Amino acid sequence: MRTLVVDDDPFALKVLGRQLANLGVSGCVLREVAQEALAELEDSGQTFELIFVDLQMPEMDGVEFVRHLARFGYAGQLVLVSGEDERILQAAERLAHAHKLNVAGALRKPVSIQELSAVLKPTLARGAAAQRVVRARDPDDLRRAITNGELVNHYQPKVALATGVVVGVESLVRWQHPYDGVIYPDQFIAVAERHDLIDDLTRTVLAVAARQAGNWRAAGTDLHVAVNVSMENLHALDFPEWLLGVAAGAGISPTQLTLEVTESRLMKDPLAVLDILTRLRLKRVDLSIDDFGTGHSSLAQLRDLPFGELKVDRGFVHGAWRDASLRAIVEASLRMARELGMKTVAEGVEDRADWDFLRAAGCNAAQGYFIARPMAADALAGWMAQWAQRRGELVETKG
Ligand code: C2E
Ligand code: MG
Ligand code: MG
Repeated sequence: MRTLVVDDDPFALKVLGRQLANLGVSGCVLREVAQEALAELEDSGQTFELIFVDLQMPEMDGVEFVRHLARFGYAGQLVLVSGEDERILQAAERLAHAHKLNVAGALRKPVSIQELSAVLKPTLARGAAAQRVVRARDPDDLRRAITNGELVNHYQPKVALATGVVVGVESLVRWQHPYDGVIYPDQFIAVAERHDLIDDLTRTVLAVAARQAGNWRAAGTDLHVAVNVSMENLHALDFPEWLLGVAAGAGISPTQLTLEVTESRLMKDPLAVLDILTRLRLKRVDLSIDDFGTGHSSLAQLRDLPFGELKVDRGFVHGAWRDASLRAIVEASLRMARELGMKTVAEGVEDRADWDFLRAAGCNAAQGYFIARPMAADALAGWMAQWAQRRGELVETKG
């Protein structure tokens, strides 16, 4: 079983490696620096069936590491390890579950061999055979795909919780691979970021999205279109000018565009980011802080950057109605956004209970499988007709 252990404490690392060897899991890869482990996972296409990660680490903590694992679709087993109190460990475990990772267990430090053995038993029994092998995509293949137009945008509606009115769509890129079929962004965005392809990718996606908004507009439907932008994109100071040119070329107003910025990456050049985002706001492009609550710098970014919208991460949204901690987080995020004069969007609204809870909590808009899955551009008109039928019943009950 290919196993990776990530812990900034070299002693803990060695001990866990030895304990694992005693239990028959030998040849573990031991890493002290989370970023290095991540780079190895993404770049060399190394696959692991089992990963142990410490939560408390400098630079990149375990939660962020886990989030990256989810981004590129890690399909093996995950064990969280922490010296922090039980509640933190539980919360991290819940988040990993929400990211749809296979959590084999959570271990308190110092790890006892009995507990380790208990956590490992089902994993070892299941064996490595059943694990799907996920490989990071090849950057050259991705470069070719961008040039050949293999990237297509799908669109997922956002609707107002109070009225059910469709307020816009979010563009989500898919790679229509000639041999491998549809590939989801989790498997190639990180590759693009690491190999200097993210600018080409984002500009392609943005241009297509703007053109699509222009087409919808010409057909009589004015829709806000949101596009995901990586922090890595915000270094070229002429980005706002480029974007305005694209909007003008597509016959739409900059106010029809929203950029969703993810806060998971460390900012290399915070000054450039601040410059670009401030000027985009001056030009009336809306900015949204995406996946709010998952990184470690979200509050600082909220303070420093001119966001007009806050998207609560789906890891907090789905099931919040029956989980006191999640509910507290969602409600606090909404309250904070309101006090800062921002609009709020909840992602990952998967069922009626989620919908009702968010309406009652006063969130502005919702997005998620309960409303619609991301769809091809030409499927949107059909969905809007269906939604017009369905929406009445969802907004009747008082929120
Ligand atoms: P995101 O911006 O947070 O987008 C929402 C993701 O959640 C999408 O996954 C969407 O399909 C999924 N989703 C929507 N509703 C639900 C729901 O009810 N339940 C669950 N479990 N999931 C839901 P997708 O399309 O795989 O995209 C993943 C991430 O990849 C996006 O997260 C975004 O950060 C990134 N991404 C997508 N397109 C682009 C792009 O063009 N550029 C960049 N830089 N990143 C992109
Ligand atoms: Mg987004
Ligand atoms: Mg998000």
